[in-house]
Parts: sequence; structure tokens; C-alpha cells
Amino acid sequence: MHPPGVPRCVQARTLRKNQRVVHDLMKKMHCPTCGHTFDPEKTPSMPFCSLRCRQVDLGRWLEETHAIPTDSEAAAEADAAEQEEQ
Ligand SMILES: [Zn+2]
Repeated sequence: MHPPGVPRCVQARTLRKNQRVVHDLMKKMHCPTCGHTFDPEKTPSMPFCSLRCRQVDLGRWLEETHAIPTDSEAAAEADAAEQEEQ
């Protein structure tokens, strides 16, 4: 069942190593704020590595929302949506 010339013990070792790599990839996550890898099981602030990163992201999101001016184009879109509902 294994390629000739490769000792069985080496095969087993390689397989175990690959399984570990896959396991690590599944376990680790990238924080959207700071980009660091972290263990999702050790943070109460998923999907961020820490509470601080979550607040930073939330702050950024709020800033972007407030930065968008409510121009006539957006108002026109809202009117069109209301008309479609009727
Ligand atoms: Zn982070």
C-alpha cells in the first residue's frame, strides 16, 4: 500500500506532520484588525484576537458610517424603494 523504497516509519511520520499542519490551520485565525494569528478558543471577542481589536474595528466602522454624507442620491434611492413596496 506504500511506494517502494520509502520505509513505513518515514511515511507515518510525514503523514502525522501533515495532519498537524492541517489542524493548526483550522485552529488559528487571522484577526481582521491587527492581522495577527490567534487561537479562537482563547478569545472572548471572536472573530477578533482581543476585545481591543474588536473595539478598534467597531470604531472604524462607525467612523465610515458617519463619514458618508446623506446626499440627495441616497434619498432618491430610499424614495424609489418605498415606491416599490406600495
Ligand atoms: Zn487583533
